[in-house]
Amino acid sequence: MSEPLFLKGVLQEKIWGGDKLKKEFGYPSPSNKTGELWAISAHKNGPATVSNGIYEGHTLDELWKEHRELFGNQEGEVFPLLTKIIDATDDLSVQVHPDDAYGLEHEGELGKTECWYIIDAEEEAEIIFGHHAQTKEEFTRMIDEGQWTDLLRYVKVKAGDFFYVPSGTIHAIGSGIMILETQQSSDTTYRVYDYDRTDDEGNTRPLHIQQSIDVTTIPHTDPVPAQTIRNVGDSTLTTLVTNAFFTVQKWMIKERTPFTAEGAYTLVSVLEGSGQLMIDGSSYNLNKGMHFIIPSGISRWEIEGDLMIIASVPGKEADQLD
Ligand code: ZN
Repeated sequence: MSEPLFLKGVLQEKIWGGDKLKKEFGYPSPSNKTGELWAISAHKNGPATVSNGIYEGHTLDELWKEHRELFGNQEGEVFPLLTKIIDATDDLSVQVHPDDAYGLEHEGELGKTECWYIIDAEEEAEIIFGHHAQTKEEFTRMIDEGQWTDLLRYVKVKAGDFFYVPSGTIHAIGSGIMILETQQSSDTTYRVYDYDRTDDEGNTRPLHIQQSIDVTTIPHTDPVPAQTIRNVGDSTLTTLVTNAFFTVQKWMIKERTPFTAEGAYTLVSVLEGSGQLMIDGSSYNLNKGMHFIIPSGISRWEIEGDLMIIASVPGKEADQLD
């Protein structure tokens, strides 16, 4: 019998981190500087571990290597997706990620397209999303001259907002923001600007100006993902974005709701509420902060309760056998 794979993620300490992963979600954070939970991750820098069933104790990267049938026998060296929760109490550095071609050529790792669901935001909190330069020359000159406030594009955010951040998009999460991030499983980041901050020893963090100029999309265009909404009784299922790498959905569950798999496997993160997952007559408790994968052997399931969930399935790029 196929079972869902409930996952225990990996907490990452960051200088800009806070205590909300502990306070809001109850994760066993050892400090008040926890920046990220790598919730559904097979990345070597923090793979999640299965906490139930016959695969209990196995990491997700082990399952990807040894039990590819759980993932529809998809090809690929690395599990393609990474789901994180991020708690920023300080501004993150301004950064940009390469696409797959540039990442593989220069870093030996895939590029990164990502998207953000804003879980929580303080009043007036803002992100950096894109820039105002019209040409590469202008972009380069404004960086050289340190014209950061004119160059960077600031956007106010609130809980429930969603941002699609394709590779090549300049971006930064600002202080007072908590997000769920769905992204390609990659750790390649080019830092453009770090607010001239120094650590206790007076050192700045490295910047990657030339790479950033190489990979940034100029001029910036706001991606407008086509969103679709489906109502099932009082439940609302919204597709937030669909692209070559992933499809991300928001499930507002208010009553017993049937699902059919829309990809080889499904990544699920419970952000609010509680309820039940029903598969083949078995039932599993769902609570805020849980993350799990519905593997390839399960094509139908039901969820009931009062829940807000962000779910994702791998895109066509990661689905070469289909
Ligand atoms: Zn990023």
